[in-house]
Amino acid sequence: LQLTLALFKPDITRVPHVLKAIRQRIVEEEFFIIRNKELRLTREETEQFYIEHQGKFFYNRLVTFMSSGPTQALILAHEDAIKRWRHLMGPTKVYKTKFEAPSTIRGMYGLTDTRNSTHGSDSPDTAAKEIAFFYPEFSI
Ligand code: ATP
Ligand code: MG
Repeated sequence: LQLTLALFKPDITRVPHVLKAIRQRIVEEEFFIIRNKELRLTREETEQFYIEHQGKFFYNRLVTFMSSGPTQALILAHEDAIKRWRHLMGPTKVYKTKFEAPSTIRGMYGLTDTRNSTHGSDSPDTAAKEIAFFYPEFSI
């Protein structure tokens, strides 16, 4: 089984019915939830996590948003977990989700291109790095 790192972002972590619906989708799609914890990222931790986006026009907005409230970090396992989770999340851009993928997580709960509900690792290398970032004690 492949592992991926999923985040529930601060726009949804205090909205119980959205959390419940997303958890239900995760179970329906037969992911295993290996780890799950809630934490609040500092600004510095967020900058580190999104270092690849440093310099982009949305970077500051993204860092401010992600450090503005609690985040849930999950390790998910599935055959082809990385692609499957990103498929379930839907496209990054919210206008695209509304027209092309309305039943994805971002299609249903995404508010803007920044406040888009969830994160998912984009490659096996990234997944390993991101799992170590949130779960340094977890060894693959
Ligand atoms: P994620 O990494 O969160 O799973 P992603 O891989 O679909 O999302 P990235 O290109 O890695 O998208 O961007 C990381 C995050 O930065 C996005 O999830 C979103 O919150 C924010 N972001 C990306 N593009 C934009 C944009 N054009 N305007 C505003 N925010 C953006
Ligand atoms: Mg990404």
